[in-house]
Amino acid sequence: MATIFTKIIAGEIPCYKVAEDDNFLAFLDINPNAKGHTLCIPKKEVDKLLDLDEGTYSGLMSFSRKVGKAIEEAIDCNRVGMAVIGLEVPHVHVHLIPLNSMKDATFQSKVQLSDAEFKEIASKISAKL
Ligand code: AMP
Repeated sequence: MATIFTKIIAGEIPCYKVAEDDNFLAFLDINPNAKGHTLCIPKKEVDKLLDLDEGTYSGLMSFSRKVGKAIEEAIDCNRVGMAVIGLEVPHVHVHLIPLNSMKDATFQSKVQLSDAEFKEIASKISAKL
């Protein structure tokens, strides 16, 4: 069965898109640790990061680096942290999280955002790409 992220790629489920190319997609995490928390995914559906072929792995890191730099410019933060977890969605995704304190990296403390706020954040990050 297709993962929820494959459905997002196919346009069957909406997302707050930040960036896209032929092989990768970046969109805002729907339950963010912090404002600007973004997920970068390969369009190829693979469960675990270390099972990606080398080309897709390095392409994903390069894409995530570009998006992370745009987040650093667009969002007020000390730095952008990167994490790969994957316990909830079995489709490789890189979390890019604007960090101001360790709390932002714990996945225990979440921020609530309105639809308008998600849209504004996604377009602010996109504009820096
Ligand atoms: P994990 O698999 O543990 O790395 O976590 C999956 C992440 O995907 C969580 O931070 C969720 O909030 C996020 N997520 C799940 N469904 C969606 C969705 N439809 N749109 C955006 N983010 C999502």
